[in-house]
Amino acid sequence: MTKTIAIVGSGVMGLTTAHALALRGQSVTVYEQRAQSGQGCSWWAGGMLALWCEMESAEPLIGELGLESLSYWRTHFPNVINKGSLVVAPPRDTPDLKRFAARTSQFEWIARERIAALEPDLAERFETALYFGEEAHLDPRQALAFLRKTLETDFKVQFHMQTAIAPEAIASDHVLDCRGYEARDVLPDLRGVKGEMLILRTKEITLARPVRLLHPRIPVYIVPRDDHHFMVGATMIESSDQSRISARSMVELLNAAYALHPAFGEAEILETGTDVRPAFPDNLPRIRRDGKILRLNGLYRHGYLGAPAIARRAAEIIVEGKIFPEVER
Ligand SMILES: Cc1cc2nc3c(=O)[nH]c(=O)nc-3n(C[C@H](O)[C@H](O)[C@H](O)COP(=O)(O)OP(=O)(O)OC[C@H]3O[C@@H](n4cnc5c(N)ncnc54)[C@H](O)[C@@H]3O)c2cc1C
Repeated sequence: MTKTIAIVGSGVMGLTTAHALALRGQSVTVYEQRAQSGQGCSWWAGGMLALWCEMESAEPLIGELGLESLSYWRTHFPNVINKGSLVVAPPRDTPDLKRFAARTSQFEWIARERIAALEPDLAERFETALYFGEEAHLDPRQALAFLRKTLETDFKVQFHMQTAIAPEAIASDHVLDCRGYEARDVLPDLRGVKGEMLILRTKEITLARPVRLLHPRIPVYIVPRDDHHFMVGATMIESSDQSRISARSMVELLNAAYALHPAFGEAEILETGTDVRPAFPDNLPRIRRDGKILRLNGLYRHGYLGAPAIARRAAEIIVEGKIFPEVER
């Protein structure tokens, strides 16, 4: 007998889960409280698929999930940009670059000449950099819109928008709770980590790939997007305050962008964004079984690096009865 499966929430976790189930021939219904998919925390992400850089501070599990997720995006989303990423530091902070290198792998130390070949606009400002050539990035907003369209047109997934619903209230055989930070009503150990970002526009500088600037107070990354847009992010504040960006954060993000290249000083500020990353105490994602409900949460700063790999596991729990101790905690 065909099982009925419902997903609550259509951020990156909900959409990739719907896709994983649809790919396995399951019929899925998605409930989303907003008018559009992906406009929660997932909307504000940088979209860096930078798993080797992330290993500077993340647990090995993120590397494992990240490798699988990178392959997922490359297979299913046509606009992944496979140009790697660059890590730089102001000359006085070169020890930070060495420390970063000591904690990561899969990079090359590159000098000015190679920086000039990869990112001509940065060559004058930085003598050395770390180049993580296997990394990639995507525009999260494009990726989520693409997934939503694929689900509706290719797999006939039903979406009920502007429908705020409690997973417990759904009568389906299986329910996947993908509500992000809003699931804290049933996940008491879920906390919020505030992230703030900016979108700038300038034609005065061109970047081909994400660049991280190491800085003792606020390490920042800049991700190039279409039409001379740049995403500048992101603060990491232990707070569940979802209100607007603070003046201090705005100043620090802009200072860091200016330190990367003074041309950002003349950029237009198109957008500011603030949201709360859902995180468990160890900053690792989880699948929690709760009767017929699976709660997929705790993506923290690894939404795009974690969700496809968690989604695949959740689908295999439902369809094949598998167990995944590494994330079922
Ligand atoms: C500034 C910033 C930068 C970031 N940069 C990156 C990055 O570069 N790379 C990366 O991998 N990650 C990044 N992240 C982290 C990433 O955005 C999150 O880990 C991810 O978005 C969490 O996804 P989610 O689907 O669990 O939650 P959400 O995106 O919040 O989705 C939850 C959805 O559930 C819906 N919902 C909630 N309650 C209900 C209900 N009762 N009924 C129906 N619908 C409901 C919401 O409306 C929402 O659409 C960043 C985060 C921030 C804030």
